[in-house]
This record gives sequence, C-alpha cells and structure tokens, in this order.
Amino acid sequence: MPSATATVTASASAAPPTLPPSEKIATSAGDLTIQPVYHGTVQFELGGKIVVVDPWSKGAVDKLPKADLLLITDVHFDHFDKVAIGKVKKDSTVVIAPEEVVKDLPGAKVMKNGETITAAGFSLTAIPMYNKVRGPEAGKLYHDKGRGNGYVITFGDKKVYLSGDTECTDEMKALKNIDVAFVCMNLPYTMPPAEAAQCISAFKPKVVYPYHYRDSNLGDLTKALEGEKSVEVRLRNWY
Ligand code: ZN
Repeated sequence: MPSATATVTASASAAPPTLPPSEKIATSAGDLTIQPVYHGTVQFELGGKIVVVDPWSKGAVDKLPKADLLLITDVHFDHFDKVAIGKVKKDSTVVIAPEEVVKDLPGAKVMKNGETITAAGFSLTAIPMYNKVRGPEAGKLYHDKGRGNGYVITFGDKKVYLSGDTECTDEMKALKNIDVAFVCMNLPYTMPPAEAAQCISAFKPKVVYPYHYRDSNLGDLTKALEGEKSVEVRLRNWY
C-alpha cells in the first residue's frame, strides 16, 4: 500500500491543466477569439457569445466561460464527456449533437450529416466524419459514416471547420471557402499527418490548426504542405 506521503507527492506534482494562449481573427461581425483547449476541445467567442466544442475533462474546462452553443461531435469519451459538459453548460445553452449522443444527453438537439441550421445565432452545417479503412478489427471501423458530425460554423463572414475524428473523406476534400480549419490526425483512430495534408491541400483552408494529434509527428504535416503557400499552418500546444 502506498504511503500517505507518496500519495501527496504524486498529486502535488500533477500540475492543473491550463489554457493555451487564445488568438483572434477579424470577421465582419468583429474579432473572433479562438481558444485552443485540449486535444479535440476548442472554444470560440464572437460578440459576447460563447461556442464550445467537445469539452473534455482532461483539459482546463473549469477555466472556460459558460457556452451559448455547445457542439458534440461523437460518442467517444474524449468528445462526449458529461462531467465536462456540466461545467460549460448553463440553462440557456443550445446543445447540438449527433443522434447517438442525444440518446444519452436529454435536451440536446440532433443534427444529421449534411444538415444546416441556425443555432444560438450561428449558421451551422454538419459534415460527415468517419473512417474509410481504419478500425479495431477486420470489418469494423472506429467511426462509422453517419454516426458523428464534423461542423462548419459561420462567424460573421468567416467559416470555421472542425473535422471531428475522421480520415480524409470526399466530403472534407469538397469543402469550400473555409477560413479556419481544425483537422484531426492521430493513429490508429483517425489518419496520419500525411493523409491529413492531402485533404488540406484539396480544400485549402486559409488557416489550419492541427488538433486531436496526440503522438503524431506534425513535421510530416508541415513538410507535406510546404508547397501550399495559401495555407497557414498553426502549430499550437494542445497537450
Ligand atoms: Zn477522438
């Protein structure tokens, strides 16, 4: 049995999670604040309205403001975390999620792949996110097509895309006029950086933040995108 001293030392050495620096981009509706949080968690603010995507307790969700709009992408624990949702939700929060999440999250509103709605004043489109080849065993995929949602959120005249957990799909390649993209890249669950680069080269967001990239070599991404002069790759510390 560990001694009391050892236990105290262990907990004291675990630093509380902090938020990475936030960044701003100009939109026709004022500055959009982009707050990277952790792994797949992102927070935005525009005109005093707060949007939170996939809050996860491993990040500093305690430090986030309450959400006006809360988006969940999928059923997995790093995206659908009821404890973290409780921390960023208020009575008036509009919660949007795919059907498989809403089944276990009363009060949330279902969005299906391909749907566009207005929620909390923001135009929102659900983009399919799925594996084409990767799964836990032969014949199974980590993310089945139709279950989860990536999202495009319109902030003023700017469009922000969050991929969710996905491989490089035709739907991602076909995205148009994306100003800021958050693209996942981690094996075995989603795709390697080189595959993410193929998709990024296809839809050419003006800015791309690799996120949900644990244990990936982001040097492979920047190397693959060297020739894409119109795409600014923003490497930030999400872990
Ligand atoms: Zn994930």
